[in-house]
Amino acid sequence: MCFRVAMFSLHTSPIAPLGRTRDAGGMNVYIRELSRELGRSGISVDIFTRRSQPDTPNIQRLSERVRLITITAGPAEPLPPSALHPYVSEFTCRVARFAERNDHPYDMVHSHYWLSAAAAAPLARLWDVPQVTMFHTVERLKAQQQGLALEATSAPRDHAAAIRIESEGRLVTSTECVIVSTELEGEQLRRLYGLSPSRTRVIPCGVDLDAFTPVTPARRAEARRALDLGETPTLLFVGRLDPIKGIDLLLESVALLRTPARLLVVGGDPSGDPEVERLRARATGLGIAERVRFPGAVPQRDLPTYYHAADAVIVSSRYESFGLVAVEALACGAPVVASAAGGLPSIVRDGENGLLVRWRSPQAFAERIDLLLSDDALRAQLQANARASIEQFDWRRIGDRVRDLYQQLAAESTSAVACSCF
Ligand code: UDP
Repeated sequence: MCFRVAMFSLHTSPIAPLGRTRDAGGMNVYIRELSRELGRSGISVDIFTRRSQPDTPNIQRLSERVRLITITAGPAEPLPPSALHPYVSEFTCRVARFAERNDHPYDMVHSHYWLSAAAAAPLARLWDVPQVTMFHTVERLKAQQQGLALEATSAPRDHAAAIRIESEGRLVTSTECVIVSTELEGEQLRRLYGLSPSRTRVIPCGVDLDAFTPVTPARRAEARRALDLGETPTLLFVGRLDPIKGIDLLLESVALLRTPARLLVVGGDPSGDPEVERLRARATGLGIAERVRFPGAVPQRDLPTYYHAADAVIVSSRYESFGLVAVEALACGAPVVASAAGGLPSIVRDGENGLLVRWRSPQAFAERIDLLLSDDALRAQLQANARASIEQFDWRRIGDRVRDLYQQLAAESTSAVACSCF
């Protein structure tokens, strides 16, 4: 019998449209791609997510050996993560019933984000299997990045934040293994929640090297034609329109550029998204409205066209636990300018495969972007190194490392059974 993993993504579906809302981005990609890779290698994966639309089928096949199971818990409508804690135990009970009805024993529980970790912990105990958790973000770190004193946040978010902090503290110490995508994230979880190094495993996120193909002169010309970019130097931002992404700072940087470059902001919903309207107004206030376009979120399969067309991809985040957009851009051979924040320096190495900006100032960003746009030799050198620098993040390699971890934990677990998959 095959090794079976119960993957938990309670608050967001791995097939939700990416970048359109604040709740669907890198984590969704991670769960979808990791599951596909595990499935390819012979492991069965059931991904459990909460029903947020009444008509979603209960069971969907996503790829070989990978199913998405939609569980009703709370109202069948989209809810923000901060409103979901009251439905966690209902979710747990329904997953337990599903597994029982389907005579579906699992060998491993792998949970993403604290809500999933909380839902999965009792099931790991019930099934007597190890639990692997990825937090992706934690409340204490989020508050720190936003410069909030936790006690200064106002109710009811205050209450939700307090529950989250208490739960994260408990889950960090009860789960068998916590996967972090960088050493820095491991260090932060140690400092903020007391995560033990012996239960930490650093495994970076992956990239689909077949989908994100390297740019060629022909691809670049075709992409620029398709996006109607003409000769104007073009900067690209891709991501959720969340304050943590530093888009305000990016707009301020564009206003300071010596090169009259245009900026494409990919993400959000250009028809009626208040954040797009706010950013548009900000661009107008800075006098650069005619140089900034908001095409909205773009399906991931179409993103290579954007990366191929761009003269530079800018990742101006205040913080990134990893930074998939930077990896995808480098896979496509695009020059990257990124802030030296969170996991980004583990991907972008200054002067080698991109430029890192150490100061969170629009001036510093503008200087680096101007340098890149004006120095053809530098751009060519960074582009030449880009693809090779991220081949280490090939999903096939990352999938193998996660598989090795499962194998190790299963072997250590008292309930371990011999499994032909490993
Ligand atoms: N993304 C996309 N379309 C968009 C915006 C984003 O497909 O319009 C994808 C992007 O390709 C990347 C992910 O969303 O894989 C964002 O991941 P990242 O790690 O950069 O940011 P996070 O969402 O985790 O903060």
